[in-house]
Amino acid sequence: IVELKDVHKSFGNVKVLKGVSFAIPKGQVVAIIGKSGSGKSTALRCIDRLEIIDSGTIQVCDHAVHSPSVNLRQLRQDVGIVFQSYNLFPHLTVEQNITLAPKAVKNLSAAEAREIAARTLKQVGLADKAQAYPEQLSGGQQQRVAIARSLAMEPEVMLFDEVTSALDPQLTGEVLRVIESLAEGGMTMVLVTHEMDFAARVADTIIYMHEGKVWETGSGDMLKNPQTPELRDFLSHGL
Ligand code: ATP
Ligand code: MG
Repeated sequence: IVELKDVHKSFGNVKVLKGVSFAIPKGQVVAIIGKSGSGKSTALRCIDRLEIIDSGTIQVCDHAVHSPSVNLRQLRQDVGIVFQSYNLFPHLTVEQNITLAPKAVKNLSAAEAREIAARTLKQVGLADKAQAYPEQLSGGQQQRVAIARSLAMEPEVMLFDEVTSALDPQLTGEVLRVIESLAEGGMTMVLVTHEMDFAARVADTIIYMHEGKVWETGSGDMLKNPQTPELRDFLSHGL
């Protein structure tokens, strides 16, 4: 459902992705780990065409993402992306934040959009917060609203870029539980994360990126038994 082949991406003369290839079958979860600057966020952003690649191919569902003629509107309907910062509109209620895109992009009626908002808020454990404003919520709750907002577009694939790194440990747990329940529900997902235990437990495949390349790939056990000195080093020294 997602396939990157030999993806290269530079910013100016800095080569950030140097031939990245991986594939994610439908319903599977891939976690991307690696040092700061290794190209994790860039790889994720390329999947949603927030960055345009220099060479290689990216296929997402039936979209050739690398092609200049890709239908961005349809691509972005099929791919939901959630960042570290939640980017909720402060002057809109939770429900209004969630119903905005389904109404504008999918032409849903107000009633249909509200129904979807109610369902996705329930999915993230915030059924009672529809009429709250973002500032009345904790960081973890705001991040869960951001996830609900993405889910409301009924995407085929969800991308998460370090969605818990701005949160303290208690709030991190509630967001990770939501992501885990999505995994159990069969959502296809890519998670860029520093939460190694979570990655090992929830991901079907872990990708260790190093200097713009897929350096090592494996199941959760890979973290117990790293094959390269770079991954061993990363796991013992962290960032
Ligand atoms: P982190 O763990 O810190 O989030 P990362 O693995 O996500 O790191 P990227 O954000 O993908 O790393 O960045 C990889 C490299 O690309 C870095 O050297 C960064 O400075 C550079 N880079 C990323 N985006 C841009 C941009 N828009 N313009 C110029 N350079 C960029
Ligand atoms: Mg990043």
